[in-house]
Amino acid sequence: RAKATPGFDCIFYNSEIDRQNRDRLVLLNDLRHAASRGELELYYQLQNDVCTGAGVGFEALLRWNHPDRGRISPSEFIPLAEESGLIRDLGLWVMKTACREAARWDRPLGIAVNVSPQQLAQPSFVEQLSDILIETALAPERLEIEITEASIIDDQDHALKIMHRIRKMGVRIAMDDFGTGFSSLAMLQAFPFDKIKIDQGFIRDVHLFSERAAIVRATLLLGNALKIPVLAEGVEVANELSFLRRERCQFVQGFFFGKPMPVEEARALACDASEAKVS
Ligand code: C2E
Ligand code: MG
Ligand code: MG
Ligand code: MG
Repeated sequence: RAKATPGFDCIFYNSEIDRQNRDRLVLLNDLRHAASRGELELYYQLQNDVCTGAGVGFEALLRWNHPDRGRISPSEFIPLAEESGLIRDLGLWVMKTACREAARWDRPLGIAVNVSPQQLAQPSFVEQLSDILIETALAPERLEIEITEASIIDDQDHALKIMHRIRKMGVRIAMDDFGTGFSSLAMLQAFPFDKIKIDQGFIRDVHLFSERAAIVRATLLLGNALKIPVLAEGVEVANELSFLRRERCQFVQGFFFGKPMPVEEARALACDASEAKVS
């Protein structure tokens, strides 16, 4: 068929790409106005101590409530925001909002915020962070920023300096999605991380797959040797949790303990009266 109409496939292909690009541009333009139009929202997911079961903090996760398209997942729009540089403004909004909201909670639970490579690379990042902490009166010790390997790879010297300055302020740094990159081991040794978050891909059915189990065990040994606490992401079933408990993983996060929730629910969990419920 394609041979009978030379060029047809090609034309179709091009117009399909055009359409996709147009869609992306429209979405990106919408995203530029999302914050000022009040379409952005943070959801919060519990992080639990494995030994006690107690909730020790929340991770802030960005949600975009698009007027026509409904709720759009961050895995759809964060890459777009990164490519366009818009992530710097979005990230600033996220940091301000998470710190402001967490500062209102009764109990001083931890608050983890994802920071993308472009944000960390900004010369003004540390200053912005310090301004936000002062403005919101959030104790720096409650804040943890989550970065991935991608933040470190491009300019390692710069990343190392920034990380030291952040930790000097009392803010902690977690390595997110551990195991999905390619040079994680060297980085753990060379960079000052306060937590390792094992990617959920390794946790899924870890009790059923010996290769995953081996990787998780090795990571826990590594964390133990380097004295860096380890959190397992994406715990969904009791069998995964039993495995992690047996292997002495310190922290967990996942649907088994709770899905990401709107701020009112998080605040209710973080109020004094609910202490019994969380643990
Ligand atoms: P992440 O930082 O690794 O966040 C964990 C993701 O796993 C979240 O997806 C969370 O909802 C999901 N998750 C948690 N527990 C479970 C579980 O038991 N099962 C399954 N299937 N999933 C679970 P979400 O909220 O869609 O976010 C996806 C990614 O988007 C995040 O991965 C992070 O890389 C990025 N992201 C989210 N919010 C922000 C933000 O404010 N700033 C930046 N730069 N990136 C963000
Ligand atoms: Mg994260
Ligand atoms: Mg992750
Ligand atoms: Mg991720």
